[in-house]
Amino acid sequence: MEATSKSEPGSDPPEIPSFLREAFEENYERLRLSTNQSLSPAARESAFTQVLLYWQKLRDIAERITETEVRLALPAQETPKGRSFVIEGVVDIVQESGHTVMYDIKTHDADFVRENQELYSDQLSVYAYIWEELRGEPLDETAVIATAIPSSLQQALNSGDEDHVSYELQKWNPLVEIDFDKGKVEETIRDFAETIDQIEDGEFDPPPADRLSERQPGQDALFATRVCNNCDARYSCPAYRMYITGSRKEEQINFRSYFMEAGSEVDRDARLDAGLQDTPSGDELGTL
Ligand code: SF4
Repeated sequence: MEATSKSEPGSDPPEIPSFLREAFEENYERLRLSTNQSLSPAARESAFTQVLLYWQKLRDIAERITETEVRLALPAQETPKGRSFVIEGVVDIVQESGHTVMYDIKTHDADFVRENQELYSDQLSVYAYIWEELRGEPLDETAVIATAIPSSLQQALNSGDEDHVSYELQKWNPLVEIDFDKGKVEETIRDFAETIDQIEDGEFDPPPADRLSERQPGQDALFATRVCNNCDARYSCPAYRMYITGSRKEEQINFRSYFMEAGSEVDRDARLDAGLQDTPSGDELGTL
């Protein structure tokens, strides 16, 4: 079962884009100063385009949100090896006419979420449990809002063809309704606890390199493209190094081909320039 969004672009009051631009720049500046990480001008514009599109597609939900960034916590949990932990999550809530919907915003693409609902339903079930059982609030539905721009829409934007953009925007449905099952909560928490023990014990071997060449359900993209390209550990991950260099053995890795994977020369230069230009000054850091 899927929900659909009603709003389509074209009917915003004129002040909305400038408000979004201001809020975006303010957030970007805060993140830049607190993380010391910058975006190239092209990447920044692309991020802002994503914000605008998200607003255009999901305006009706955004305007109905009753509580935003609701922090949910399941405290006092313990792993099989006796480590304490807390499960935390942040969701948005819409309550209308006695009907409550919980939204979890993900930067993933909607097709992937649709094809892999079980990956999201476990997490949403834990949130639903916290919301209903610990906070004593009613809940009728849970859904994921998948904010990544689909590749077909991105291609349309790159082409500059307005009809094509409009067609792709109509097609895009970032809202995926996902059933929750509070019966799964115990199992999910146990999996989570075991994973914490593995991480704390240093047991986080990557999958075999061959796994990176496999496609995920409902996806054209390989595991390496969809998952590893977003993984901060990829440059120190032996499986990724073997995948990218085509080497069957770790000791035969050709570092140059591995380094050259990090985008085109233009992309690498743009990232370098953005990092150098936007490095916060001592005065800026003092304002944090
Ligand atoms: S690059 Fe990251 S996501 Fe990919 S296999 Fe290595 S650790 Fe896992």
